[in-house]
Formats: sequence, structure tokens, C-alpha cells
Amino acid sequence: MEKMKVDGYDAVIIGGGLSGLMASIWLTTKGRHVAVVSKGDPMCCLSTGCIDVLGHTDSPLKDIRKLPSSHPYRMIGQDTIKEALAFFKEVMEGIGLHYTGDPSRNAEILTPVGTPKTTCLVPSTMRIMSNLEDEYLHVVSFKGLKDFYPSYIISRNKNANFSIFDMGVYNTMGLAHAFEEKAFLGRFIRRIRELEISDARIAVPAVLGLRSPERIMEEIRLETEKDIFEIPTLPPSIPGLRLFRGLKQALLEKGGQIYWGKEIASVEKTGNKVEAITLAGEGKPTRVHGKTFLLSTGSFISGGLYATRESKAYETVFDLPVYMPDKRHKWFNDDFFKTGHPIERAGILVRESFRPKDNDIDNLFVSGSILAFSEIMKYQCGHGLAISTGVAAAKQMDGFLK
Ligand SMILES: Cc1cc2nc3c(=O)[nH]c(=O)nc-3n(C[C@H](O)[C@H](O)[C@H](O)COP(=O)(O)OP(=O)(O)OC[C@H]3O[C@@H](n4cnc5c(N)ncnc54)[C@H](O)[C@@H]3O)c2cc1C
Repeated sequence: MEKMKVDGYDAVIIGGGLSGLMASIWLTTKGRHVAVVSKGDPMCCLSTGCIDVLGHTDSPLKDIRKLPSSHPYRMIGQDTIKEALAFFKEVMEGIGLHYTGDPSRNAEILTPVGTPKTTCLVPSTMRIMSNLEDEYLHVVSFKGLKDFYPSYIISRNKNANFSIFDMGVYNTMGLAHAFEEKAFLGRFIRRIRELEISDARIAVPAVLGLRSPERIMEEIRLETEKDIFEIPTLPPSIPGLRLFRGLKQALLEKGGQIYWGKEIASVEKTGNKVEAITLAGEGKPTRVHGKTFLLSTGSFISGGLYATRESKAYETVFDLPVYMPDKRHKWFNDDFFKTGHPIERAGILVRESFRPKDNDIDNLFVSGSILAFSEIMKYQCGHGLAISTGVAAAKQMDGFLK
């Protein structure tokens, strides 16, 4: 029989989304030996890369207290949320992806249809919208690029125009890779110079490289003497991918281990402790032993939760009880874009220690969008909630390990 490989850690993080990755990076800074196990890429790859903390308000941090007491943010409180977001900025700075913005007030950025998006922390390659109307804006897009609409953007801006460059690459991923090449970047810079526009801010779809957008942008600024910024595109989103890849890189640099693309075949428990998980895959199965475990597998979209036709929802790793707000006939809504759908409240109920309620396992913690009552669309709090509950749960795990 094939022998099993056994690896052991202080903390095993199940789910490599923003929540799991931030929790794992935080634990490494406390000297903990950490592994992340994830079966697929997370939701942040689809996102703008911006960190929404709490939408529909000017003051996200302050207005956390207005949320219902069942919301996971209310278990953490403003100080830990602020600390977690500051830690996020610090981690991103460490890998050369700076974020601007302040969690005490929301900002607006430009979207590919010219409307503003309210968010909180913004990649430094994008621009917060204040004063944008007063200055001449020149939008440069690329031939063949779908879901990016320069004419919509300029139609909302009285002092703007646009150009479309045919650079021989027709999608966001291809362009982002091409911008990392010197020759392609040089060609783009020449095209910008040929525009012969003065005193303009240049806006481009967010494709200025996958790894080093800030360096690329700086080179464009130096060579053209033009101020340039990125507008996020619809999924697949390059700033979302930068965020995901950056956090994985940060974790590896801090000594974390990553098991990617692995399904969990079984879970071992003794008494009220999870001992290990076994990963299926090609080659030898791997038994990953942990002193603590974090469940951050996301909600229905990422596969952390699963619903049957019989009104039942399951948590897919430990089979934890799932809070469901209503019977199945109430899971539907006539208006696709209406927020506040009851299904958004589904998830795992936890205690203040981030350990699951209605369960006697001591060393299991939960964070991110799998938490019940998160309602990330209604409250526009996706990444902010993932980061802060990840860090808050990691603190609880560190305390448990002590
Ligand atoms: C299209 C779109 C755009 C968005 N845009 C924004 C935005 O601009 N700003 C913002 O703040 N928020 C945005 N959000 C919301 C935000 O992306 C999410 O709320 C947040 O990233 C959730 O993070 P998470 O770590 O909790 O879960 P996820 O990102 O869902 O990560 C869960 C991870 O767990 C893995 N997993 C699942 N099941 C298992 C299993 N059984 N075993 C092992 N691994 C497993 C998954 O593969 C995944 O990698 C957007 C969401 C979507 C869908």
C-alpha cells in the first residue's frame, strides 16, 4: 500500500481566500508554523482589488456600530478592524503593492461604465475621484477589449476624450502579461507621446502588468510626463489577481506552506479536537496535522457551503451546522440586482472566540464570508470583512496555542 506523507503545523488554514491568507500571514508574524489548503482560486480574483469596508455611508468604521448585533463585524469592534486593515496595508506594501485610503472615510473610484464605485482602500494605481471633473481626462483603451467603455466614461465627464490603441493583444490577461515586457511597454509609451495632448490625466483599463504595476506606471509617467491611473475592469480582474498572487507570495516569503488545488478527502478528530485532514490528489495522499484549524472556505460561490433541493445547506469540510434564514421557496428573488436577499445571511454561527456555535470542537475557528449574517452584498463589506475576521480569528488561534 502507498505510504502517506505526514506534515504538521501550528495552524492549518482551510480556504485560501482573502480571509484565510490574511489569517495565515498574521500567524506567521507571531512565529507560528502555518499551512494553507485550498481547492481553488478565491473570489478576490474576480474583484476590483479595492477593499470595501462598509458601503452606503461616508464613515465605514464609525458606522459599524449601526449594523445589526448579529453581524460578524460587531463581534470584532472598530479597533480590531482598524488594526487588521492597517496590517493588510503593511503586508501589501511589503510586496510592492501599495494601497491608499483611510478606513474612517469612504472614497469613490471610476468604473468602466463611468459611474463611481464607493470603496475604502484603493490600490495606488487607481485614483480616488475628487477633482476628476475639473481636469482634462484622456481615456486610452485597447482594441478588442470587452467590457470596458471609454465612450460611457467620457459621456459623464464634460472635459474628456478617448483613444483606442491596437497593440495586437485583445484581452486583459494578455495585456497585463505584455506590459511586463520592455518592448511592449516602449511601444505603448511611444503611442502615448504620439497623442500630443498636454495637461491631461491618462486613464487606462487596469492591465498595467500582473506583478509590478507601480514600476510600469512610474516608467510611463517618467517617459511621457503624463499622470496616469487605472480603472478596474469587470472580471477577470487584474487588480484582483495581483491582490491574490501578492498575498500568496507574502505568505511564502514568511515561511508559510501552501497546498493548492487539493480536495480534502477526510477529517480526523479525537474527542473534541480536530487532529488532521487528509488531502487527496495525484501521487501520495498527504495527512496535514494541525494544533489549530481555521475554516475560511467562503460561501456558496466558492464551495464552502452547499445547498440541496430539499432546503438543506451543508458546510463542506466539517459538516458544521449551517444557519439558513428561510425555506427554499423564499430563496428566490424576482430582481437579480436587489441586495438584502435572505440567502446572504446563511452561514456558520460562531461565538466571540470565532469558534463554531452548537459544536464542541475546541481547536476549530471560522472566518470570512462563510460566517452567518455577513450579508456582504447588502452591506458592501466583502474584503473588509474577510480581512478583519481573518485577523480576529487568527488572534484567537494564537491565544489558544499559547
Ligand atoms: C464578482 C465579484 C466582485 C467582487 N468585488 C469586490 C470588490 O471590489 N471589493 C470587495 O471588497 N469585495 C468584493 N467582492 C466580495 C469579496 O470578493 C468576497 O467577499 C471576499 O473575497 C471573500 O473572501 P473569503 O476569503 O471569505 O472567501 P473566498 O474568496 O470565497 O475564498 C474561499 C476559498 O476557499 C476555497 N475552498 C472552498 N471550499 C473548500 C474546501 N472544501 N476545501 C479547500 N478549500 C476550499 C475556495 O476555493 C476559495 O479559494 C466581490 C465578489 C464577487 C463575486
